[in-house]
Amino acid sequence: VIRFSAFGGAVLLLAVSVALGSGKAQASPVFLLVLAAALLVVVGALASTTILDEEAIIHQEKTRSEVLLAEAEQHRHAVDVLADGLALAIFVCESKAHVQYANRRAVEQFQFDHPLGRPILAVTLSYDLEQLVLKALTSGESQHAEITFTYPQERTGLVHVWVEGAPPVRAFVSIQDITDLRRLERVRQDFVANVSHELRTPLTTIRAMTETIQEEAGGEKLPEIVPRYLQKIIDEVDRLSLIANDLLVLSASESNPVRKQGCDLAEIIRACVSQLERKAKERGLELTFEGPDHLLIEANHTQMSQVVLNLLDNALNYTVRGSVVARLASAEENVVFEVRDTGLGIASEHLPRIFERFYRVDKGRSRSTGGTGLGLSIVKHIVEAHGGTVEVESELNEGSTFRVTLPKGE
Ligand code: ADP
Repeated sequence: VIRFSAFGGAVLLLAVSVALGSGKAQASPVFLLVLAAALLVVVGALASTTILDEEAIIHQEKTRSEVLLAEAEQHRHAVDVLADGLALAIFVCESKAHVQYANRRAVEQFQFDHPLGRPILAVTLSYDLEQLVLKALTSGESQHAEITFTYPQERTGLVHVWVEGAPPVRAFVSIQDITDLRRLERVRQDFVANVSHELRTPLTTIRAMTETIQEEAGGEKLPEIVPRYLQKIIDEVDRLSLIANDLLVLSASESNPVRKQGCDLAEIIRACVSQLERKAKERGLELTFEGPDHLLIEANHTQMSQVVLNLLDNALNYTVRGSVVARLASAEENVVFEVRDTGLGIASEHLPRIFERFYRVDKGRSRSTGGTGLGLSIVKHIVEAHGGTVEVESELNEGSTFRVTLPKGE
C-alpha cells in the first residue's frame, strides 16, 4: 500500500510538473495545496519504506541471534549430556578453587546437592584435592595425583587437574574412581602370595622327609621310617595335585565366554549324588536328592557338575551327623539348586569371606578333609559366569544351606 501511494504521489507530482511546464495550470492556492499533499505523500511513503526496511533488518538480526542462542544452548546441552554420561567426576573451578560446574557423577560421588559457588574443599572434604587444584592454578601447570577420599565413604581416585587462561582463571578437574581396580590388585597380590604359601607347605614337608630318608640311608631306622615317610610324601604330592587341579578349574572358569549347551541339571545332580554315595555312607550320613526327573537349562555341563560336586562334597566334609539334601526346583525364568546340611554351620563373621580364594574357617579341618580352600570360589565364579547367584544361610552347630539360582536360558 505504501509503495503504491508513493507511486501514486509521484505520478501526481509528475502530472502537476508537466501541467506547470506546459503553462496550462495556474499557481492557485488549491494547486499549491495539491502539490504539497502529493509531496507529503511521496516523502511519507519513502520514510515508511525506510522504517520498514530497518524493521526487516532488525527482525533478521533478531532471528539470527535467536538461531545462534539456540545453537549455543544445543552445544551446552550436548556438553552437559556428554559430561553427565562420563564415568568420571568432573569439576570446573574458578581462580579461588570455588566450584563453577560439577557433572552428575561428581554430585553423586560426593553427595553434595548444590556444589556451585562452594569451595571445592567444602564439596569434597578433601584437603589434598583442594591443594592440588590451587597448585595447578598458581603454577599454571597440569597436576596428577592418586588421592584417597574419605567422604562419604573411603574411595581412591586418580585425579587430573588442568588449567585454562593466563594467568590461569579456571581449573578443570577429573576424578576417576579406581577403588575397585586397587582392590582387585590387592586380591591378585594376595592370591599370588596365598598360592605360593599353599604350595610351599607341602613342598617343605616333602623336602624334609626325603632329606631325612637320605640322611638315614643305610641306617638302622630306615626300614621303620621309609614306609611312614613315603606315605606322607605321597599324601603331600596328592595335595599339590589337588591344588594344581583346582587352580586350573578356577582359571578355566574365569575365561569367558562360557560354552553353554542344553543340559539336564536334574541328571547332573543325580550323577554327583551317586558319585558321593559311598563317601556319605562311610561317614554315616544320609545323602538324598529331591527334585524333578529332568530339568533342562542352558549351561556348561562340566562346570555345572563341578558346582554340584563342590557343594555336596563340602556339605559331607563339614557335617558330622545327620543328612545332606540336594534340592532342585524350577521357577519362572530361573532354576534354584540348594544343598542343605545338618553340619557344623558357619559363624556369621566368616560368612562374607567364605567365597574368597583360600579362605577357610578352620584350616586344620579343611586340610584333613583334603580341602584346598578354592571350592567355593570356583562355585561362585562358575555361577556368576552363567549369570546366576549363590548365597548361603548358616547357623553355627545347626547346619548350612547353599542356594544357587541360575537362569534357564533359551
Ligand atoms: P575347602 O576346600 O576348605 O572346603 P571351600 O572354598 O570349599 O574350601 O570352603 C571354604 C570354607 O568354607 C571351608 O574351609 C569351610 O570352613 C567353610 N564351609 C564350606 N562349606 C561348608 C559347609 N557346608 N558347612 C560348614 N562350613 C563350610
